[in-house]
Formats: sequence, C-alpha cells, structure tokens
Amino acid sequence: VERTLSIIKPDAVARNQIGAICARLEKAGLRIVAAKMLHLDQQQAEGFYAVHRDRPFFRDLVKFMTSGPVLVQVLEGESAIARNREIMGATDPKKASPGTIRADFATNVEENAVHGSDAPETAKKEIAYFFRDDELC
Ligand code: ATP
Ligand code: MG
Repeated sequence: VERTLSIIKPDAVARNQIGAICARLEKAGLRIVAAKMLHLDQQQAEGFYAVHRDRPFFRDLVKFMTSGPVLVQVLEGESAIARNREIMGATDPKKASPGTIRADFATNVEENAVHGSDAPETAKKEIAYFFRDDELC
C-alpha cells in the first residue's frame, strides 16, 4: 500500500464541501489515516509550494491557500498517489473529466478544491511537512 497527502483547499472548506469530498475519497478506496484542520500562515504556504516559487501565480496561490482553513489528510491505499490524482481530475476544472472532484467542486484553475501529491518522493516530503510519525495511524 501507498500513502499520499491530500489537502481540501480553502474554497471547498468555505463552501462546506469537506464531507462530500471525503466521501469521494473513501468511495475510491482511499483510507484516511491522519487528518488535521489548519489555517496555514504565509510561511507554511510558501514552504509547501516552494517548487512553484518562480511561477507567475505563486503570490496569488499563497494568498489563496492562507485565505481560510484547510483540511490536510494522509490517504492510504493501493496506488494511492495515482488513484487520488485520478479522482481529483485536471488542475483546471474546465479540463477535468466529468465526475472528478475538480469538475464538480472547483471554481477555477487556482481555486481548485483539492491538492494531491504527484509522486512517491513528493508524497513522503509533503506528509512529513504536516505530520509527525506518531500522528500517523
Ligand atoms: P496540486 O499541486 O495543488 O495538487 P496540481 O498538481 O494539479 O495541483 P500544480 O501545477 O502543482 O497543479 O499547481 C499547484 C497549484 O497552483 C494548483 O493546484 C492551483 O491551485 C495553482 N495553479 C496552478 N496553475 C495555475 C495557474 N495557471 N493560475 C493560477 N493558479 C494555478
Ligand atoms: Mg502539484
């Protein structure tokens, strides 16, 4: 089994869609093995998205990710990283396949409801960014 980091972003939390999104994750066979609700500060958001530091949307992205609480979760399952990306859908909801989380819950390419790690190394790094070992089930 594999683990991945999921974030339900401020837009979806503000719209009261935590339950609906978690139901999608669980229906896809992903198990929630750790969860915490956090309101990221600027430093936490900048650190998390450091790989995008030089992208033109970086400042807006940090502003968005600190605009309200998020739900950070560790998901476990068979091919959890790819499975989560699959049910999330494309970054831009206009390009996301019907029935995906982003097709149904995202507003636009920035306010796109969820995050999911994109590879085993990033999953490991992102999980450690938010959770200590003794916080994982
Ligand atoms: P995530 O990393 O959040 O799971 P992703 O891997 O699909 O999403 P990335 O390319 O890693 O997309 O971009 C990280 C986040 O930055 C996106 O989820 C989105 O919130 C924001 N973003 C990406 N591209 C754009 C853009 N062109 N304009 C504005 N915001 C963007
Ligand atoms: Mg990404």
